[in-house]
Amino acid sequence: MKFRFPIVIIDEDFRSENASGLGIRALAEAIEQEGMEVLGVTSYGDLSSFAQQQSRASGFILSIDDEEFHSDEAAEHAVKQLRAFVEEIRWRNPDIPLFIYGETRTSRHLPNDILKELHGFIHMFEDTPEFVARYIIREAKTYLDTLAPPFFRALLNYAQDGSYSWHCPGHSGGVAFLKSPVGQMFHQFFGENMLRSDVCNAVEELGQLLDHTGPVAASERNAARIFNSDHCFFVTNGTSTSNKMVWHATVAPGDIVVVDRNCHKSILHSIIMTGAIPVFLMPTRNHYGIIGPIPKEEFEPENIRKKIEANPFAKDVKTKPRILTITQSTYDGVLYNVEMIKDTLGDTIDTLHFDEAWLPHATFHDFYQNMHAIGRDRPRPKDPLVFSTQSTHKMLAGLSQASQILVQESETRSLDRYRFNEAYLMHTSTSPQYAIIASCDIAAAMMEPPGGTALVEESIFESLDFRRAMRKVDEEYGDSWWFKVWGPDELADEGMGNRADWLLKANERWHGFGNLAEGFNLLDPIKATIITPGLDVDGDFDDSGIPAAIVTKYLAEHGVIVEKTGLYSFFIMFTIGITKGRWNTLVTALQQFKDDYDKNQPLWRVLPEFVAAHPRYERIGLRDLCQQIHDVYKAHDIARLTTEMYTSNMVPAMKPTDAYAKMAHREIERVPLDELEGRITAILLTPYPPGIPLLIPGERFNKTIVQYLQFAREFNERFPGLKTDIHGLVEEEVDGRTAYFVDCVML
Ligand SMILES: *Cc1c(COP(=O)(O)O)cnc(C)c1O
Repeated sequence: MKFRFPIVIIDEDFRSENASGLGIRALAEAIEQEGMEVLGVTSYGDLSSFAQQQSRASGFILSIDDEEFHSDEAAEHAVKQLRAFVEEIRWRNPDIPLFIYGETRTSRHLPNDILKELHGFIHMFEDTPEFVARYIIREAKTYLDTLAPPFFRALLNYAQDGSYSWHCPGHSGGVAFLKSPVGQMFHQFFGENMLRSDVCNAVEELGQLLDHTGPVAASERNAARIFNSDHCFFVTNGTSTSNKMVWHATVAPGDIVVVDRNCHKSILHSIIMTGAIPVFLMPTRNHYGIIGPIPKEEFEPENIRKKIEANPFAKDVKTKPRILTITQSTYDGVLYNVEMIKDTLGDTIDTLHFDEAWLPHATFHDFYQNMHAIGRDRPRPKDPLVFSTQSTHKMLAGLSQASQILVQESETRSLDRYRFNEAYLMHTSTSPQYAIIASCDIAAAMMEPPGGTALVEESIFESLDFRRAMRKVDEEYGDSWWFKVWGPDELADEGMGNRADWLLKANERWHGFGNLAEGFNLLDPIKATIITPGLDVDGDFDDSGIPAAIVTKYLAEHGVIVEKTGLYSFFIMFTIGITKGRWNTLVTALQQFKDDYDKNQPLWRVLPEFVAAHPRYERIGLRDLCQQIHDVYKAHDIARLTTEMYTSNMVPAMKPTDAYAKMAHREIERVPLDELEGRITAILLTPYPPGIPLLIPGERFNKTIVQYLQFAREFNERFPGLKTDIHGLVEEEVDGRTAYFVDCVML
């Protein structure tokens, strides 16, 4: 396998017809003669974007010409520039070789802080260019050889070997695809390497994911070290599966479990699968529909005990709760101080589990100190083990489904890996996808500090710059409307600002989550929730408004796809894949939207794809459509309705697993929407947005939820194409209309 990592030469004279130009070009030629690519540039340009070349290069040669040192002042400037560049590089990459190339200057002319970062000091005309080239190439190759983490390295070697395989997969390194035209297309699209490295676990030299042996195990250990945990298990079927593994390793039928009501559906699936009895902690919610933190008092053991006593199925269970699962980083980026949670709970819960699907980056930056589950220098709890499950594919550079489980042991307990692996095996395919394993390996290696810290800092920095840009646009528009980015009022004028600015303080209006405990919650700035006009944080509607669904549809037709859409909010993320181009394009697309909205442009012009699918909107103006929807939301007081339905108290009528069993046994009825009140659901009911389950098997429909479903039905009839999606609803055509049903437990 040949990788492209050129040697970058930075020399003012690279193209000049003078002695130093000739000298440096001779060196470049000699390097190329040895088979290594060279990239020659004459200046640094923008330092930080140039330093980003460190990810593409195998070494840098920085020249210091005599001319640059012609006076003390000039020398000082040259050294300053050199230092700035070296610092920029080393901030991201401690290992890439750096060489200085001088005419007559020697190390005497450079300060120690620069010298100590160098791999060599080359002097023109002292050695032959060929000799110098070989020396540089040797250093560059040594550097490249250290890059690949264990599993990826083994996979490269394997794919290179070119051995014939008799094992599955049956496509035999891609050859099967070549036998048909569509197969050829597939092969050409994904390419040889992806298919050659798609192997099965019969290949001994790659190790086994399922038993954690060989290079796979070495990579898991490497990732455990990088993520500051005692153990790391790679998972190739998403954090949905990681969650089930943690649960099945810990929870058995009849156990009490304490769960964030704002949890991912995989946690609810875990409840059903393990036969647990859930007691829920209730998060706050503001009227934008943004879900806030669970207040700190909810974690008090006394409060949890009260909840257990109030639960008809839990009250007689004598053992302590087996697990606590918290969504650590909500969709909108609200985080908890884990040390405060650990202190509050003490040893009243057997195992602590933080669903950090959105938070694998936190351990790499002090900004998030204590606001994530497991990290450097964090105290061990006395008794409970701490688990963190992370979707490396969401925030870091993993392929879809790349996920990992991290474990911190306690003072008194270690993790029995054999025992844990029984649950791991229960949920892992015996044919794991090796490209996903490799991406787990790479995602971890990429985050090795200082490079990982730099990546996270850049994401935070870009997200702050985005917020500053949005505020600048707002100011410039003066009294005219503009979008707001949800977050604290205080925002640093430049740079990273202060971590304390991002703590949620009690009773601040911007968040609307009420009286929060001091230091308990932080907003992760790299999640940016954008608020559209029309609704305020108290749930009061303006006369006019712009429902977010229209904005995100508009953005989608203009090539900007956002992560999640709420009623008057949508949200974007500044992952480590973010670029200035991406967020600036969003800002300009939003300006186009504003322009088209203010002019009330007809939809056929501004949403052509939408209109092609739904011609009835053809002649409506953009502003008029927004207003029609806004009026409907307002008439139904929808902000309050959705808040109430999520915060209303649910008394379970059955254990979730028992209600689900009714479905497996077909002891269910498909109940029409209008007759649902009081009935027990057998399924998970999840409206999108926000994608948070509203009812879980075994709970009864109350009036508010039925009202909401009636609203959704009416809305869907009035505004086809802008449907409120509710997973769990069964739709059937009855007399030419769409009727809705829910599978409920048979009476
Ligand atoms: C996305 C998500 C999951 C599931 O992760 P996948 O990797 O998509 O399976 C679990 N929990 C939370 C909070 C999530 O947002």
